[in-house]
Amino acid sequence: MKTFASVLAVSAVAMTASSAALAQDKGTIGISMPEQTTLRWISDGAELKAALEEKGYTVDLQYAGDDIPNQLAQIENMLTTGVDALVIAALDGTTLSAVLQQAGESEVEVFAYDRLIRDTGNVDYYTTFDNFQVGVLQANSILKGLGYPGKPGPFNIELFGGSPDDNNAFFFYDGAMSVFQPLIDKGDLVVKSGQTGMQTVGTLRWDGATAQSRMDNLLSSAYSDGTRVDAVLAPNDGLARGIISSLRGVGYGSSDLAWPIISGQDAEAPSVKAIVAGEQYSTVYKDTRELARVTADLVETVVSGDTPEGLDTTTYDNGVKVVPSILLTPYEVDKTNYQELLIDSGYIKAEDVQ
Ligand code: BGC
Repeated sequence: MKTFASVLAVSAVAMTASSAALAQDKGTIGISMPEQTTLRWISDGAELKAALEEKGYTVDLQYAGDDIPNQLAQIENMLTTGVDALVIAALDGTTLSAVLQQAGESEVEVFAYDRLIRDTGNVDYYTTFDNFQVGVLQANSILKGLGYPGKPGPFNIELFGGSPDDNNAFFFYDGAMSVFQPLIDKGDLVVKSGQTGMQTVGTLRWDGATAQSRMDNLLSSAYSDGTRVDAVLAPNDGLARGIISSLRGVGYGSSDLAWPIISGQDAEAPSVKAIVAGEQYSTVYKDTRELARVTADLVETVVSGDTPEGLDTTTYDNGVKVVPSILLTPYEVDKTNYQELLIDSGYIKAEDVQ
């Protein structure tokens, strides 16, 4: 019996060893992620690594700590050590040209992950969500929260954008403004501060503290006469939390001053908790598990020498070429559907939002 068990154990070890050898044969994939403050990147990195390892690749996963030179150095290092493909969620979509030139010369396939890498011919594929639609969902959700057009307004709204070096930030903002601009023109929505346009409302590095202090300034410059801000376009959950802190500081969320309608993005547990508590109105759910899986499949297709089919070849022009892309669907989430979309799907745990 013992002998049989140990034979089994030995062959199990042998099998593990041979699948490890096989794994190394399939090649190495470098993954460069931007930072770990926005919770999604932590799971994006982990999910991608797991999916690629399961396919038999060796994975080098690095986080750039929100530091552009650091991301450049990490990618350079991956190229020097030798990778077969790079999956990059860029901090700044325009600063990678030189290092990607090196990737192009070494015939390393480059996959832009979630954020488009701009101004280089050396990016081969792009996997993301429909980012314009994210903005459309945020804006429509704000209108729903305001009760518009049943309640005709005019409503006071303030606008925030994401980081101006992140190509996605423009898509989110443009998507939202495609809904808001006609209503601003009609006078049903009023940007009381007068601050519009990504150059003015953008938030460098998607920094929540920066959004909080800009909201402080907006409240003291445009609302200190006692007018209410009825809605705030927050492009993601991290910025929404900064904006909520600022609003709380001047008494919003109390019995005589209701919370404005505030949007978000990423379905981060602390923000879903804020939605359940009635502080934030909604968020946008992008299933990053699906993005990781789709990306791993695409990497495998390309690295194994096959041609991927059915890609979008019109939407994402990076300034040099239209990058063939896969666009996944985002969903609006509020108090009425978070259970079904987020908890039942296992995206976040019920106990994390109570
Ligand atoms: C992503 C968002 C994220 C933001 C800040 C964007 O590029 O698409 O999901 O909230 O970056 O990290």
